[in-house]
Amino acid sequence: MSFLSKLFKVFRNRTEVRKAPESSTVGNKEPVCPYCSDALDKMPKRKKKCPNCGQFIYVRTCPDERVKILIREDQIELIEEQWAIENGSHEQFLAEKRNRETTKAKLISQGNNAPTDLDVKWEQLQVSLPKLASEFQWGLYRNARLGMGDVLKKQGKLSESLDTYLEVCFIDLNGPNNCGTKDPELLKMFPPFDPKSAFLAPGVLRYIEKLCNDLQVKPEDLESRFISLASTVGRELKLPIAPDEAWKAVSGELL
Ligand SMILES: [Zn+2]
Repeated sequence: MSFLSKLFKVFRNRTEVRKAPESSTVGNKEPVCPYCSDALDKMPKRKKKCPNCGQFIYVRTCPDERVKILIREDQIELIEEQWAIENGSHEQFLAEKRNRETTKAKLISQGNNAPTDLDVKWEQLQVSLPKLASEFQWGLYRNARLGMGDVLKKQGKLSESLDTYLEVCFIDLNGPNNCGTKDPELLKMFPPFDPKSAFLAPGVLRYIEKLCNDLQVKPEDLESRFISLASTVGRELKLPIAPDEAWKAVSGELL
């Protein structure tokens, strides 16, 4: 990197930090639509469609004055940035933003002309998996798989989403740990998977129930589906719990 481009980079980073905008100018503290300025009946408590212009109004807390404000969709990131500054995590915020932009550029170069936020999220999670697996960060690996299930659900890929949530339950029953090491001595004390710390997340179980309902999956079909994918995942990740044993625990928790 040449001296000039280094200088430019430093300057750009500095302006990025400095351009934190005045939050008092962002958002409406009164029940007024941030798009069309139409008065609303009352202050909405959560995301709401404006009855006049039909656009989505978002509710956030102003980092300066700590009051509820109504903002437009294009102002969400701005408020998140202000909160990151407030919480001392601005560097991390900017790093994540750069990572999203790099990922987006990569998807475009691969032929996806207009990657959505979900496409970007998916790619980031997908890329993180081999890294987390090689670092023995199995709790984080499990969280990444859960995030991928959420992306699939939002994309309307319900069947794939169901499989991913079933996989998360299977991983959970094996008690994934964030070891961050492959040192055999340490792994004896902190094994990568420890079924003693197993826990089924109620939220994930409820997603599975809802997806089974939406997709009309019969209980016996769900069982064979679970056993089949748990066998594959169990082999790949060398999980200690047998799929049929795990199924007993999962089916016992499903309504
Ligand atoms: Zn409006």
